[in-house]
Parts: sequence; structure tokens; C-alpha cells
Amino acid sequence: MSKGDLALLKNTNMTTVLDKIRAEGTVSRAHISRLTGLSRSTCSILVDELISDGLVIETGKEESSGGRKAILLKLNYEGGRAIGIKIMQNNITAALVDLSGKIIEIQSESFSKSSSKSTFIDILSKVVLSLTVHEKINTNEKILGIGIGVGGKIDSNTGTLLESSIINMRNLKIGKVLEEITGIPVYLENDVNAFTVGEKYFGSGLNYHNLLCVTLGDGIGAGIIVDDNLFRGSHHIAGEFGHIRITNSSTAVSCTCGKKGCLEAYSSDHAIIGYFLELSGEAKTIEEITSLAESENNYALQAFVKAGTYLGYGLSTLINLFDPETIIIGGEGAVYYKFMESEINRVVMEDTVYGLFDEVKIQVVLFDDTLWIRGVAALVVKEVFRKQA
Ligand SMILES: [Zn+2]
Repeated sequence: MSKGDLALLKNTNMTTVLDKIRAEGTVSRAHISRLTGLSRSTCSILVDELISDGLVIETGKEESSGGRKAILLKLNYEGGRAIGIKIMQNNITAALVDLSGKIIEIQSESFSKSSSKSTFIDILSKVVLSLTVHEKINTNEKILGIGIGVGGKIDSNTGTLLESSIINMRNLKIGKVLEEITGIPVYLENDVNAFTVGEKYFGSGLNYHNLLCVTLGDGIGAGIIVDDNLFRGSHHIAGEFGHIRITNSSTAVSCTCGKKGCLEAYSSDHAIIGYFLELSGEAKTIEEITSLAESENNYALQAFVKAGTYLGYGLSTLINLFDPETIIIGGEGAVYYKFMESEINRVVMEDTVYGLFDEVKIQVVLFDDTLWIRGVAALVVKEVFRKQA
């Protein structure tokens, strides 16, 4: 075996060991050996190296009925810092977090959609640098990476924002430029993918190997984890769930993407607002329709059921294609999923093959303002643990 092959094998084994520790929470060296099939001595050598890198720490001893109690290990989420950034319409929010996504400090800056590339980068680096200043006070804590989530078409290999409705520019090399300014590695990801990685590492996706995250709201998207890995596709657009066609009718509704009959045109906030208007003759916001449904308003409930029928078609397709262990429903629209749920279950039960639906656990993660931070912190954790391993 060549030197390169040996190094690769060691890296792979190290990543496997780290992943087992992450998934188990706390675990002994002997148990890692059983879980991974690696010999006890190999495990010990790898664990010692991870401890000296500060990525793993020893944490007490195993409960035991007799004999020597084994020392337990866990990931050292406090052993490093990350910066998580979310780029939204007119606003950049950045948070300094530990590796579990716990917020230490948060900063926000506004920008205009028509900003030039250099103005936008200036604003972005200003937010980041203001957080790294804070970190210099604690010299023993290192910032291991910057995770950025943004809606749009992203090349995460090169850290390039290829196209986004948030900023009026294409091929923005955010990763490279920000790395040059800060000297910190940058991991850029589509916002739905960032949410998906966050759920896999710290949320409802923990301990699942094949899972899908579906985000509802203004748009509809999906993040895909296959065999523990984020699936991005070959052209950075896998998971454009909102733009699968669910009707071919000549009267199909137009979608924001310019095509007709997309799921997003039938099950997003905008669609629900339209159904409610049609039924009641009243124009209401999605928040108003949701609270009307809470008080069992018939028009509001019917509007959600209608959107649910189409979402059911979409989810059936996902289940038939990916056979996931779980589907996590997220995004701002997760709050109204409950009004669509029984209709979705009815449709999906009918449309999935081999009784697949019975096996799939649907989980709803209610939107809150800090969930994205968990996602972008997870981007850093994912890469740091992989890179250093
Ligand atoms: Zn579309």
C-alpha cells in the first residue's frame, strides 16, 4: 500500500470514528471498536490523536456491574468556534457559535439588492471581522470555519454563489474572497441544504442515514441525505422539489420560475392565499389564514386541504424515489403543516408503492429564528471534522 493510500485509509477510519462518537453522544473506545469493526489498538491510536487535536474529550466512566470501568468519549463541541452567516433579502446576519451551534454573539448588517460586488463583500467582511475581534479576547478558542447559508444556486466546492434572487449578481466567489480577507476556511451552501445538515447533525435527523428535509413557506425546497451524505447533484440544483410538475392541465398555474404546473404554484404560501381568496372573497396574509384555521374557519381549513392534496402528490414522489427513513418538514410553513396533514396522509397512502408510507416517519420542526444557525454551524462541523480527521 502506498503512503498516499495509507494516509487516505487513516483519514477514512478517523472520520468513521468521529462520526460514531458524534452519533452515539458518549461512547467507550471498546464500543467504537465494536461499532466500526476496527481493532481496539487502531481505535486507541486514532482516539488519542483526536484528543490531542482537541476534537474529542474524555468524559467520565461507563456504568458497569463489575471489572474495570471504561472511559467514555464525546465530541468537544466547545473546543472550537465557528461563524455562521445567513444572507437574506437586504440583510446579513452572522453569529459566533460553538461547534454545537450555541450562540455566543450575533451581529447584523443591511445591504441593498443592487449593491456592487465590492460593496456587498465589504459589508459581509465587516460583519465577520467584528465577530473575530470578539474572539481575540479568548485566545485559546480558535475559529475553525465560516458556514454561510443562502438561497439560490451554489457551487459549494468553489464557494461560489452562481445565481440568487437575493443579490443582483452572478458568479460571486464569496468563499474565496472571504477566506482571503479573514484567513478562515469558508463553507458556502444553499440555505435548504444547510438546514438539512443542521437537522442531520443536531436535530431531528440525528441517527438517520437516509432522510429528506422539506421546507414549506414562500417557496418549497428539499434537502437530501443519502447514506449519511448530502446529495447535491451534478449541477448544484438537486432538491428543487418546488419545481416538480404536478399537473399538466392546460389551465395550470404559472410558477415564479417561469414554468407552469409546479408544486410551488399549488402548495406555497402564495397558493394558499389564492385558495382562501377564491373561497371567501377576502384577501388575507398567510399568518391571518393560519390563525383563522386555528379557530376552525372553514375557508381557511379548505384552503390548507387543497394545498395539502398537491403537497401529498409531491411527497409521494419523494418517498417513491428515495425511500427515506424520515422526512423532516421545516421552513416558515411548518406551522401550518398540521392543517394539511390528514389530507397529505390520505394522498400519500394512496400514491406510494409497496406500502412504503407506513415505514416513513414524518417529523415537523417548527420554524424559529435560530434554527438556521444550527444549520450553518453544522456545515463547519461537518467539514472541520472531516478535514482534520
Ligand atoms: Zn417552478
